Amino acid sequence: MEFKQFNLHPKVQAGVEAVGYQTPTPIQLQAIPAVIAGQDVLGLAQTGTGKTAAFGLPMLHRLVEGHRGKVRGLVLAPTRELAEQINESLNALAQQTRLKSITVYGGVNINTQIKKLKEGTDIVVACPGRLLDHISQGTVDLSGVEVLVLDEADQMFDMGFLPDVRKILRALPGKRQNLMFSATMPDDIRRLAHEILCRPVTVQVSRTAPAATVSHALYPVGQHLKTPLLFELLKHTDTESVLIFTKTKYRAKRLGEQLEKSGYKATSLQGNLSQNRRQAALDGFRDGTYQIMVATDIAARGIDVSLISHVINYDIPDTPEAYTHRIGRTGRAAKTGDAFTMVTGEDEQMVRSIERVLGAKIERRRVEGFDYTVPAPKKDEEFARPPREPQRRKQAAPAAGKPAEAKSAPAGGRPSQPGNSRGPGASRGPGGNRHQSGQRQGGNRPAGQGAGEGQRGGAQRPGNHAARRSGR
Ligand code: AMP
Repeated sequence: MEFKQFNLHPKVQAGVEAVGYQTPTPIQLQAIPAVIAGQDVLGLAQTGTGKTAAFGLPMLHRLVEGHRGKVRGLVLAPTRELAEQINESLNALAQQTRLKSITVYGGVNINTQIKKLKEGTDIVVACPGRLLDHISQGTVDLSGVEVLVLDEADQMFDMGFLPDVRKILRALPGKRQNLMFSATMPDDIRRLAHEILCRPVTVQVSRTAPAATVSHALYPVGQHLKTPLLFELLKHTDTESVLIFTKTKYRAKRLGEQLEKSGYKATSLQGNLSQNRRQAALDGFRDGTYQIMVATDIAARGIDVSLISHVINYDIPDTPEAYTHRIGRTGRAAKTGDAFTMVTGEDEQMVRSIERVLGAKIERRRVEGFDYTVPAPKKDEEFARPPREPQRRKQAAPAAGKPAEAKSAPAGGRPSQPGNSRGPGASRGPGGNRHQSGQRQGGNRPAGQGAGEGQRGGAQRPGNHAARRSGR
């Protein structure tokens, strides 16, 4: 099957050829004809399956022959990174059409967005929070929207965006085509689909099982030996681009620094970075400046680097769905990939849940020649926070009972958009320095105390306010 058989508008087909797609992916095969036929679509597909073009191509096909400059296509995405990626793909596919797509998300200057909206655009790719700001200020006109796409709906729900999404829906014309994509289908998402979609065609690539092109392996190891084991794995594995996941922002930052110090081209992506630094890290990972990226779930959401050869879960994710999302970054578009997960004794239950979703047992591996017998340092853990003493000297003691890093996160956390409630350079503030001072192995706090940060920077649960506003 070739793209030509969809009979896309010649200018859209020209875009397909320009980006070099040869054969449609399974989700594209299923979704494109249904969307061209004007039907609502519920797509069960994870990132990496080609779902952006699955909704993007037929949307462009529909919009190419109409009037210009009024928003006719609206894509909602949970994170800025995903919004940027979708926008990039749409603009690449639309290069011969003169259709224009722009992004709207928080953490960047709203006036620049207002200017772009005023200049006119055909498609807006937005995170819900900031779009809602524009709606309430009257700086965006959505009365001409013909196609609505809700991408990564499950993540949107996890991040608490559904109330915002519902408000946005009220600003749209009732008569429109709705496309909704989700990697998983929990009850809330099913309910939302019933609410929004009109007699949808359901297209599905696989259930929640990740791409078949990914091979999985577990590496049982003590918490304190994770870093040396990681180095050993990297040394003995032939990798292109490696995406490493940690539970917390702190661990991501610190592991990134440790890898860099050891000579790897590594960077980290976590919620405490300013938008510019996040973009620089992402661009560097995409263009190969960095071979390794260490990230938290939220920060890495939707990262699209087609050459990711390995996803390494330094920390096991909180849910099987998060596992699916994480490893969706490798084995994309028919390339093969490896997913390594380091597991400690405490992770057994989660391993079983993941295996249930995969429908198979994951191979347990041991690294030959690695010394698994090194005992854990007393009371300490690999990623314990640094001693509190330096903070006291600086008289920057945090509020009682709060971890020091709470200060480096803006009010409510906003893990994806740290730049918008602090002054310039705040992400490099005292919190960051304290982290650096803690680089020596084994501080004086048990690793368990780092878990609070995971709730701000790692996988988010519904109702978590830190995550809720992150699209604004
Ligand atoms: P997505 O799931 O939309 O994030 O796409 C994952 C990756 O696959 C992106 O790098 C796309 O550019 C790429 N891709 C999408 N469709 C195709 C296709 N038909 N052939 C080759 N690569 C594709």
